[in-house]
Amino acid sequence: MTTLLTTDPDRAAAVLRRGGTCAFPTETVYGLGALAHDADAVGAVFEAKGRPPDNPLIVHVQSADEVAALARLTGPAERLLSAFAPGPLTLVLWARPGLPPSVTAGLPTVAVRVPASRHARDLLRATGAPLVAPSANRSGRPSPTTWQAVRDDLDGRIGAILQGPPTEIGLESTVVDVTEAVPLVLRPGAVSLDDLRRVLPETQPVTRGHDAARRSPGTRHRHYAPAARVRLAEVADARPGSDAAWIGLSPPPPGYARVAVCRDVADYAHRLFDAFRRADADGLARIDAEPVPDEGLGLALMDRLRRASQR
Ligand code: AMP
Ligand code: MG
Repeated sequence: MTTLLTTDPDRAAAVLRRGGTCAFPTETVYGLGALAHDADAVGAVFEAKGRPPDNPLIVHVQSADEVAALARLTGPAERLLSAFAPGPLTLVLWARPGLPPSVTAGLPTVAVRVPASRHARDLLRATGAPLVAPSANRSGRPSPTTWQAVRDDLDGRIGAILQGPPTEIGLESTVVDVTEAVPLVLRPGAVSLDDLRRVLPETQPVTRGHDAARRSPGTRHRHYAPAARVRLAEVADARPGSDAAWIGLSPPPPGYARVAVCRDVADYAHRLFDAFRRADADGLARIDAEPVPDEGLGLALMDRLRRASQR
């Protein structure tokens, strides 16, 4: 299949409305969209990504009202929606009947998000229907933060790419399960634990072991990993070399083939996945990544760095 490249949301929506797949920018990472109620279109998303069928998809909608059509809203869920929607927060809720089982991987719950990005909202409006949209990468690769990264992974495998700017945040959405009494953060993201606790003080991070794997199927799979080996390294442990890249807040000692010194944690998050992909494109063997404090957005950044470094 030839992948249409377009900056026109109406052309992208036309591909989706006839049951095709189309990647598009959100504020977190680029997503691979398809009509959530079209089982064949959803199947094409799993196929294009090589995604394991036991990893459910996030449904993207235009408004909190549309969330209520897909899932049962409880008081805590409504409070999170009024505080953080639209935005980089995904809620796991009890599903209403109607979605193809492949969307939820057969679970009784569904993950839903209202994206804030103008490009995503224009596309949702032009399409006029909820879209599944997992990150638009081949399964196991880092999430794409530019349309070029989507093309590198999925050219010829998807119907279209809605070309927009590099994504603002650069890390995937925060995922919070609100189906039980204690809200659980299944995946940290730009909406931080502190942000969530300001609205729902009882919110907890998911602990490893726990029933984390059952609650968050995606966490079973290897994620966010470039081909190069990722090593967490303070400046004092830096090992410069012509086969290595550095990314962090501090300048490293000289001798790295690629260096990304980030202004702050937000800039680090914004640049991380692109740095992974550039290191791979250059055939580098190793990426030294400087750790940051486990607080705020740093918690999400460290989650991705730890996953990438565990092989
Ligand atoms: P991705 O869109 O590729 O960033 O991945 C979506 C993430 O949301 C994965 O970690 C999924 O496991 C998670 N997710 C989607 N639906 C559910 C659900 N019903 N229950 C728990 N986690 C979910
Ligand atoms: Mg993904």
